[in-house]
Amino acid sequence: MAFSLASRTFGFGDADNNYDSIKFFTGKSSVKLYLRLNVDTDLTPVRYLKSLDQLALKITSEFSEPSGNYVTEAFAERAIAFLNKEYSFVKKYYGDQYPTFIFLDQCHIDWNSVCVTTKNIFNETFFYIFLYHLKKDVTYSPEYVFLHELGHVVQTRLGSSDSAPQSFYRFLNEDSHFIKMTKEEQKELFADGFASTALIDMGLQELDPFSSKLYEKLADYYHETI
Ligand SMILES: [Zn+2]
Repeated sequence: MAFSLASRTFGFGDADNNYDSIKFFTGKSSVKLYLRLNVDTDLTPVRYLKSLDQLALKITSEFSEPSGNYVTEAFAERAIAFLNKEYSFVKKYYGDQYPTFIFLDQCHIDWNSVCVTTKNIFNETFFYIFLYHLKKDVTYSPEYVFLHELGHVVQTRLGSSDSAPQSFYRFLNEDSHFIKMTKEEQKELFADGFASTALIDMGLQELDPFSSKLYEKLADYYHETI
């Protein structure tokens, strides 16, 4: 799943639904936020117009009509509630920020979801998790996709946006397969393991694309660390 860094600063827009500790952007508000995150308004008029042109091309070439399964707001709420109960998740990993999820009713050519990380003027890190309809050929569940992106939030908070946390390296330091992976693969494994562990702990084994294999290997790590 994609994990990208945005260099500009953004504030929160008006979400459709503000629960106690979550912001959901759906429908038009999701599109507005997508545009705000992708258009740099701090440009000369000509450059600004050119950047809009480029974005229009990017949108038409990368997005298509929705066709696959998608994460529901109900599941997002349920998962966050579970993680809060087990790990004080929002307090621990978001502090006084709101977890922000943008449900875009589109398929993306490459990704099922994206975790965009950005910083505000005080150098605080914010996360924007974009959730698309799953691509047609995808065999895993939207619930796994959602938790995988939360795994990247944990990864960034415990370590950095570029690599898995040091504690993860220590846990797997004798695993020859892990050591041979690239940094990118290691952080994806971290997010996969987080998602797998959370799904099984929620009693949703049937939605775990790794058939409990990652759980058996990594659950102890997450239970001790998260
Ligand atoms: Zn990922």
